[in-house]
Amino acid sequence: MSGFVCLDVSSAVSSSQLSGFKCEFGDQGSARFDALGAWCSAHLGDDFFRRLVDGRILKNNHLDSSVQAEGVQARLQLLVEQFRGNPEFLSRAQFELISSVPDSAFSELDALYPQTYPEGVPVLPPDRYRDWVVPVTTGCPNGQCSFCVFYRDKPFQVMNPSVIGTRMVNVRRLVNESRSGVFLGSANALALPFHSLQSVLSLIQTEFPVLPKGIACFADADNLSPKVRSRLKELAEAGLSHVVVGLETGSSVLRGAINKRGDTVPTEHLIRELKQAGCGVGVTVLTGFLAADDFEQHCQETRRFFERVKLDTQDRIYISPWFASDEGKPAQRAINEMAQMKATLQTVTRARVTAYSSHNFYYFT
Ligand code: SF4
Repeated sequence: MSGFVCLDVSSAVSSSQLSGFKCEFGDQGSARFDALGAWCSAHLGDDFFRRLVDGRILKNNHLDSSVQAEGVQARLQLLVEQFRGNPEFLSRAQFELISSVPDSAFSELDALYPQTYPEGVPVLPPDRYRDWVVPVTTGCPNGQCSFCVFYRDKPFQVMNPSVIGTRMVNVRRLVNESRSGVFLGSANALALPFHSLQSVLSLIQTEFPVLPKGIACFADADNLSPKVRSRLKELAEAGLSHVVVGLETGSSVLRGAINKRGDTVPTEHLIRELKQAGCGVGVTVLTGFLAADDFEQHCQETRRFFERVKLDTQDRIYISPWFASDEGKPAQRAINEMAQMKATLQTVTRARVTAYSSHNFYYFT
């Protein structure tokens, strides 16, 4: 039995604390569990399994529909049985949590997911991958961007407050462990009316009282009420800490060509207003979504945009290589342009410039 060690024992005892815990099984592997004892990730033998919030399983970094969550839990239950009654390595509470998870728990979570996330969780900024995602809207108020693979032509709808409250409870059942922040889903939560936003932020502060990274969301400068714009400071005081604004390119001409509003000035103003309100800012930039001949203009005008808009070290620029939904991954040109764009922007901004590929985003338990 040597080599079996459970970490974070005390925090696992009370599921109300929402803390997960990790166990190590010597040369047989290790696993991380949520606060109710359901596995989240597991090294078993030579294989590494990760459970996604939507119920799918990654085995050795590839989706594998032949692996069932309950099957992995059963293997782990057999493993902890070997260490039953050994308080040096496994608390009784942890043993009981892991052992008491029934097969039906995973099918219940699978059923809960589409009720909670009607349009899934298609993408998050890379520094917010481990947030609780609380859906407050569906669709996008713009919905016209020619390159958009996530929300194009999906009508924008604001959920009513009772639905949002129910979904917050569901989120805590689906992601039953501590997370450091909340992300308001989906495409543009800042398009909510001011008082709805205030209510949502207040409800989150009650439901998720400990949030070191605060509350974040996506925003689009062209779909924002004047009232929200003028009262951003109140939203920041209510917990809004980071807003990710869709720029894509600093070129007004090229923005117009992809069905975004051609004028970048509203985006510049919104970024300044957010910073004055005390919010951290993220800005998205794409590569590979324009003709190759347009890249130089895209790169230089985006550089000039960030020369005008002063970002700080707490801010982020996310550069993502675009891909068509039927391609599944970005083309090499998009990746090369991403590297060139990153090197260019790093010369003019204090923000952290992050290259990331949204095509391999998974929302993990
Ligand atoms: S504003 Fe953003 S989410 Fe909406 S259609 Fe355009 S790219 Fe997609």
